Amino acid sequence: MTHTDTLNKILAMKGKTAIYWDMDGTLAEFDRISNYPKDFYINKRPINAILNAAKLLSESGNIDHFVLSKLPPESEYITFAEAERTKSVWLDKWTPFIPKQNRIFTTDDTIMENGNYFGKYDFFKTILENNNDYDNIVFIDDDIRHIRGCEVLEKEFNNFTIINTLELVD
Ligand SMILES: [Mg+2]
Repeated sequence: MTHTDTLNKILAMKGKTAIYWDMDGTLAEFDRISNYPKDFYINKRPINAILNAAKLLSESGNIDHFVLSKLPPESEYITFAEAERTKSVWLDKWTPFIPKQNRIFTTDDTIMENGNYFGKYDFFKTILENNNDYDNIVFIDDDIRHIRGCEVLEKEFNNFTIINTLELVD
């Protein structure tokens, strides 16, 4: 799908929608590194096409926006607290239209037998099984291990939609 088709698909959803935005590789550039320099997250390059889409969608009154971001494993270079603090500084600057209380940081690095991540699957499974607040739940992510991990939920719950970040870039 193109950027415009994807925006229209989301805007056409009936009722109240929640969008969960991935951060690294979706709102911000993704770097594959293991030794995190100081202020690594603060200095990440914003992905303007995606930020503009998020801002546009935030102007629709029927959509609540959340950031759902997995923190890197703790190491000698970065702690969960420092990753969360610096990611928050970045989000303060680049996503002021998403309420601070709508930031969710996961620390689960479990990989399932099929090679997919467990953490975001587990998060959405809980949300979907207990959700009374939203007619539609949209998950936007660039990592195929999160996307594939959640696909079983997309088949099970017809109010759950996964969008690959690339579908929001023309
Ligand atoms: Mg990502």
